Amino acid sequence: MKKENRLNSNIPKHVLLVMERLEEASFEAYVVGGCVRDLLLGKAPKDWDIATNARPDDVQKIFPDSVYENNFGTVGIKIRNQDADGKEIVEVVEVTTYRIESKYSDKRHPDEVKFAKTLKEDLSRRDFTINALALRVSEQESVSSDQQKIEKIAGTKFELIDLFSGQEDLENKLIRAVGDANERFNEDALRMMRAIRFSVTLDFSIEKKTFLAIQKNSENLKFISPERIRDEFSKIILSSTPAKGIELLQEAGILRIILPEIESGIGVMQSHHHYYGPYNTVYKHLVASLEKCPSKKLEVRLASLLHDVGKPKSKRGEGENATFYNHEYIGERMAKDILERLRFPRKVIDKVTLLVRNHMFYYNVDEVGESGVRRVVQKIGLENIGDLIDVRIADRLGSGVPKAVPYKLRHFQFMVEKVSHDPISVKQLKIDGNDLMEELIVDPGPKIGAILAVLLSKVIDNPTLNEKENLLILATELAKSNVGELRKMAEDKIKAEQKKEEELIKKKHRVS
Ligand code: ATP
Ligand code: MG
Repeated sequence: MKKENRLNSNIPKHVLLVMERLEEASFEAYVVGGCVRDLLLGKAPKDWDIATNARPDDVQKIFPDSVYENNFGTVGIKIRNQDADGKEIVEVVEVTTYRIESKYSDKRHPDEVKFAKTLKEDLSRRDFTINALALRVSEQESVSSDQQKIEKIAGTKFELIDLFSGQEDLENKLIRAVGDANERFNEDALRMMRAIRFSVTLDFSIEKKTFLAIQKNSENLKFISPERIRDEFSKIILSSTPAKGIELLQEAGILRIILPEIESGIGVMQSHHHYYGPYNTVYKHLVASLEKCPSKKLEVRLASLLHDVGKPKSKRGEGENATFYNHEYIGERMAKDILERLRFPRKVIDKVTLLVRNHMFYYNVDEVGESGVRRVVQKIGLENIGDLIDVRIADRLGSGVPKAVPYKLRHFQFMVEKVSHDPISVKQLKIDGNDLMEELIVDPGPKIGAILAVLLSKVIDNPTLNEKENLLILATELAKSNVGELRKMAEDKIKAEQKKEEELIKKKHRVS
């Protein structure tokens, strides 16, 4: 019982108060699910769930300040309180009526819910033994005011309800399905991903029968909505052992359903001199890159996992002569398709595809000068450079090289810093369209933009040109050309720079 008593100081008073009020109205009330698991693990629960035999309308009668929006039996109760400075704070506690699983025909969580009479029924529909624990406040005589209730709560005793040996599994660090694993995964296929998610976030193993049942039913993830898959996948990717998560998904047969593009890197040899022993297939390299990713951002982790996803499709030749020409562009396209399919937000997709497309950017101390670095910054955006460097570090470490940030990359960071205030956009030029119209008698129209674009390309090469007088002299000269010629000048410059970089990348990877 000692363990239970230790629990009480960790449950917020407002949660206990809600349970008290329910019990007073002769209903049952238990703290259930993930929060009990987290309490027993000594972690701070993210949210608090209370289960009760009261129906949603009963709950709303007891707590008029509440909302019942979905039809899943969950009422959100608002508790108004004061913080240390006397400011009002509103805390929400979720109270859910006991439920049982209704019939499934399509391996998805049911849209309709069936209420149940007993806690036992409610606990039996939960996914894993460690998530099927409940805590109850022991019987005590009732008191009337909220203040008295809070005082009473301070000395409260708790009773842990553990009908499926969840405590034992917590101690042995095991994820085990409640009841028959096969049936449970047939009811809701997402549970298979949740098993892997809990395994990596808690550092638990998946119990053998449970894992076998996942392997048997993995195909059913086809029926699960992309949004639900995305949320579990993101939690796996953001855990402290994301690579273990991918390997588990693979072993379970889930990866081939949700991310076949990664699965198809299995066995694809890169056998290039800079991929060491165990990292020499595309699959192993991508998993290792995710493992070594230094960033905690979802986008950067996704980009680390996906940066070479275009390699299997772009591979030409075998052995030492294999080439992966344009894999970064093929990969960008594939990353976009994957992330759209999983319904990631537009912002995430844009960022990941930018990082995948540019992960090959070339930098070498003697070959790329300040103007080259300014062009990289212009293309990628100053705000993305740090993340791109992180993908590059992941890529490097995921190839088995021992040192994360070699001199070259540190020097690149230094150069970015150095040029970070130099002009890289038309807005930063010391003249604008109005100046051109006044001084040069250029008519309003597309010619103005074309002149500014050529001026910018000159200023990127040499920022000291960015002086008003200078630019006007240059512009006067440029104004003699027509729009078509001006546009060609700017485009040719961009193409030449691109070609130069591509040549350098090719040379480095010996793929020409
Ligand atoms: P987290 O720490 O991510 O919040 P959690 O275990 O609390 O983990 P929730 O999604 O908040 O997960 O769900 C709360 C509880 O509801 C779970 O602990 C589990 O008992 C139950 N549950 C959630 N999803 C499912 C599901 N798909 N099948 C069965 N039970 C589930
Ligand atoms: Mg939770």
